[in-house]
Amino acid sequence: LIVLGIETSCDDTAAAVVRGNGEILSQVVSTQADLLVQYGGVAPKMAEEAHSRAIDWVTQSALDKANLTAKDLSAVAVTIGPGLSLCLRVGVCKGREIARSFQLPIIGVHHMEAHTLVARLTDRNLQFPFMALLISGGHNLLILAHDLGHYIQLGTTIDDAIGEAYDKTAKWLGLDMRRSGGPAIEDLAREGDPDSIRFKVRFFDFLKHFPSHFCTIDAEIPLSLASSLDRRSRADIAASFQRVAVLHLEERCEGAIEWALKMEPSIKYFVVSGGVASNQYVRARLDQIAKNIGLQLVCPPPSLCTDNGVMVAWTGIEHFQMGRFDPPPPADEPEDTVYDLRPRWPLGEEYAEGKSEAR
Ligand code: ATP
Ligand code: FE
Repeated sequence: LIVLGIETSCDDTAAAVVRGNGEILSQVVSTQADLLVQYGGVAPKMAEEAHSRAIDWVTQSALDKANLTAKDLSAVAVTIGPGLSLCLRVGVCKGREIARSFQLPIIGVHHMEAHTLVARLTDRNLQFPFMALLISGGHNLLILAHDLGHYIQLGTTIDDAIGEAYDKTAKWLGLDMRRSGGPAIEDLAREGDPDSIRFKVRFFDFLKHFPSHFCTIDAEIPLSLASSLDRRSRADIAASFQRVAVLHLEERCEGAIEWALKMEPSIKYFVVSGGVASNQYVRARLDQIAKNIGLQLVCPPPSLCTDNGVMVAWTGIEHFQMGRFDPPPPADEPEDTVYDLRPRWPLGEEYAEGKSEAR
């Protein structure tokens, strides 16, 4: 079994080829660094054009690096949501074009499920059920993963996700955004004092049980002035922001997981994934939380935490092996075919009291 995975839900154009046994044959990512700097964030139309420019060579070089042609593939997996529909469409069109030409089955993948399941590729002992915290540009999501395709949300975000908070803070501090705000804050924070600046973090309850809604951050220093401060002061802000932001995650997760363990005592693993999980400070702090509650942390390597094609290919493999896939698109598929794109697509169901099963 050999699957090509294609990912274009946000600002990275990514493709990878993965074998059914988890062997990664190739991995290619094209980032939109220049656009991020120019527009200070992801502008959907510009991102779509950048995906369109990159998609052909990204998929071709994933095949080339794997020493394969599309004829050798067993199936194509492509992210169909959630994300920006203009961007999703670029990947879906490419995936269908390949699937149509070579009459391959196609698997439509949930981007956040892919962030979760890639942990089962990197740690082959990881069995369901497990806890997962997904922290990325668009999500803070704490889930109980019961089984493949069967997830219960214990907490999510209704405002900024933590990755977005990192990006905003980096922008306020005038940092180099070429690698997105997270790595810039992580690097600068190493030089700063995490206890030097008090941040107020305003929380809102949104889920009855475990509010993990992230935050609007107010610092004592007006953040509009922050970019003109000297490096030392900006490092203090970066370090203090990071401490408070991650402390919030730690507190929310610890309580919620302890509660979930009462419901599901067989859980042994705590997965942390998504772009923010590539941060070493975040990994170390959440490892401590996992130890406190007697779970083993599984955190994919940084390159598989940020958006990538491997996670999409692997999620495709998991579903394919369960017989969940679409037949090859017909060779004479009309050009005006409406594709299944799901820009808003929750992962699983919110936990509801008295409802032990969710699907
Ligand atoms: P989502 O997965 O929610 O759809 P996305 O796909 O845009 O969002 P990811 O690529 O999964 O997001 O993650 C990108 C986010 O991760 C950005 O907000 C970025 O700042 C953050 N990030 C990346 N590296 C780090 C790091 N080292 N420290 C903190 N944050 C980081
Ligand atoms: Fe992502």
